[in-house]
Formats: sequence, structure tokens, C-alpha cells
Amino acid sequence: MRLLEYQGKELFEEHGIPIQKGYVVDDKEDAIASAEKLGYPIVLKAQLRVGGRGKAGAVVVCKNREELEREFERLYDMEVKGEKIKRFLVAEFLDIVKELYFSIFLNRSKRCYSIIASSKGGVDIESVEEKAIEDIDVGENNGEIIKKIGDYMELEDRSYNDFIDIAEKMIKLVDEKEVELAEINPLIIKEDGSLTALDSKVIIDDNALFRHEELKKYEELSSLEVEARRSGFSLVELDGDIAVIGNGAGLVMSTLDMLSDANGRAACFLDVGGTATTESVYRALTLISKMPRVKAILVNLFGGIVRTDVVAEAIVKAYKDKVINVPVFARILGAESERAREILKDSTAKMYDTVEEAINEAVKNIR
Ligand code: GDP
Ligand code: MN
Repeated sequence: MRLLEYQGKELFEEHGIPIQKGYVVDDKEDAIASAEKLGYPIVLKAQLRVGGRGKAGAVVVCKNREELEREFERLYDMEVKGEKIKRFLVAEFLDIVKELYFSIFLNRSKRCYSIIASSKGGVDIESVEEKAIEDIDVGENNGEIIKKIGDYMELEDRSYNDFIDIAEKMIKLVDEKEVELAEINPLIIKEDGSLTALDSKVIIDDNALFRHEELKKYEELSSLEVEARRSGFSLVELDGDIAVIGNGAGLVMSTLDMLSDANGRAACFLDVGGTATTESVYRALTLISKMPRVKAILVNLFGGIVRTDVVAEAIVKAYKDKVINVPVFARILGAESERAREILKDSTAKMYDTVEEAINEAVKNIR
């Protein structure tokens, strides 16, 4: 789960990491009132889960109310990489002496956490060569490693002390909340030498979420996702055009990976849970019908006691009731597959023996 900037900053603040003052707003009047409280200039920052907001013009300094109104109107509902702007952070404008970079991430290949820090912050860290990378154990004392990184950064006294303090607090945050990535870019040095987090990017491990009741408030479900939950399904809306249905989170995730390897773009992932019945598949198709962007449906059902013919019947019924009209590409591994083929013979749904085939055909069909 990727948090929005302001949500990540809330976690920073709870852990004593300095952030700039600001207010979260979703309408213009609140934005103006917030700016008045802070005093101009302010920074109007679109709250999005995609990166590169600055480059997309979605982080803007406003010197007065007119500019704020104009920028708010320009940005509201604007799309950045497929995500619509609906919420903003109105933040105090800070003078920057220098921009640093700091992050801690779960290094999967090494099975540990690693820190990356650089005195060249504010830009994409991939493009920066001057950076320190150190592995840490978040549960242990990392004093020596942090000092080593601090020395590498060549900071003045106050900045150095702040840096050590922030690094320690970030490690604590990562450990406590089971974070996959916590990034501050830029971490700025102000005129008095003190450090402040100007931005945040925090990704929480979804599999650890159940252990963190306090993070549930950050989970934002679309109305369709809520509807899916009521049916006992788990739905995540994405912005592609191929809907993916499967039974079991692991299966759906791997189908999604394979689809993306085949250059297909998923419109959603829908896990209908253990056993697929005529009702559950029909309900799943009904949910998908409410996503106008869907141009094809990829079904991958497998294992347990899946009756292929039962699934086929649900698909045929959904066509007949005009719930769906887009083609279905299905791989259903289970009993009665001959009967299923017979049922689907005259429909827009096709059965395949392997997921690869189903995916390739679906992707080809979209093009
Ligand atoms: P991102 O583009 O999504 O990473 O958004 P950021 O929050 O990192 O902002 C992008 C850039 O805007 C920063 O690297 C800063 O250079 C600039 N910026 C944002 N807030 C301020 C501010 O309060 N003062 C100054 N001087 N620059 C800011
Ligand atoms: Mn940033």
C-alpha cells in the first residue's frame, strides 16, 4: 500500500521527524483558508500515488490568493499518469539551502533493509551516482553505520546531528510499521542548518497490514472495491483495459505479473476466493461490467473443486443478460472441462489450456 505524501508525513511526524507545516484539503475554499493560516507564499501539492509530480506541474508555489485559485482550478481533476487529482496538501513555503536524499527500503535480493543517502537530492535517485548504500538490520543498533553515512554526506554540525537523528527515527518507523520503502526526497537543509522532510514516499507491506490496525485508515477503497468486499471478493482497481479474475490472491498476482510481461495492462484484479460457483462468477462479472475501461476479461481459475462447466454457465448467463459484452479469455483447470467447452462453443468466451495462451490471445485482441 502506497501512502500519499501527507499520510507518510503523518507517520514521520508521529516518529519525531521534522516536516513542513501544512493542511490537507479537497476543495478550493479550504485551500484558501489554509493558505491564509500559513501565510503566503505556500506550496500547493497534488496528492497522488504516482511519482514526478513536480515535473508534471502538480507541485506549485503560489504567492497570493489569485495564484492559488488559478492553480487549484487548473490542477483539480487533472490527470497525472492516469491518476486524477482530487486532494491537495497546502504547505508552508520553505527556503532551501540544499536538497538531500534519504531512503530505507526492503532489499529483497539481499533479504535485508538497505539505506540510500545522497547529498544530491530533489532529483530521481537512479540518475545520481554520488550516493551511499549500506545494509542494516532494522531491529539492531545501527549507530556506526549511520555515522558512516553521515560522514559521507559532509554536513555541518547542526545538519549532521539532525541527519543522524532523522536516520535513527526512520529506521524505527520502518521497523515498527513493516515498511517496504520510506523515502524523503528532498530532505532539505534550511538556512539555520536544520533538516526538514519536504516530501515523503512510504510503501507499507500489504501482507503486514493486518497487524497494523492504526494504518487501516489509509486504505482507500473505491465504491466498487467496497461492493466487492461485501461479496467476499477482493478487488483492486487498476487503470488498464483487461480485467483479471482468479481464485486465490497468489494466483491472481502471478497472472497479473504474466499479463504485464506480455505487455497487457490490467484493469483490475479480482480474487473471488476459494471455490468458484455460478453465482460468484456471475457476481464477479457484474462488478467488472461497472468498469467502462474493460475491453477484455481474463479468467484464471484453478485448483480446489472448481467445476469448469459451472463457471462456463455463469459466463454464458452474463452474456445472455447483457451484463457483459466484451470477450472472455479463460483458463479454467478443473472437472467437466469438455462440457464447459460445449457450453461456451457459440459464445464470445474462449477456453485455453494454459494461462500463457489465454493472456496472449487477450492482449492480441485488445490491439
Ligand atoms: P515530487 O516531484 O513528487 O517529488 O514532489 P516534491 O514534494 O519532492 O517537490 C518537488 C520539488 O519542488 C522539490 O524538489 C523542491 O525543489 C520544490 N519544492 C517543494 N516544496 C518547496 C518549498 O517549500 N520550497 C522550495 N524552495 N521548493 C519547494
Ligand atoms: Mn519528491
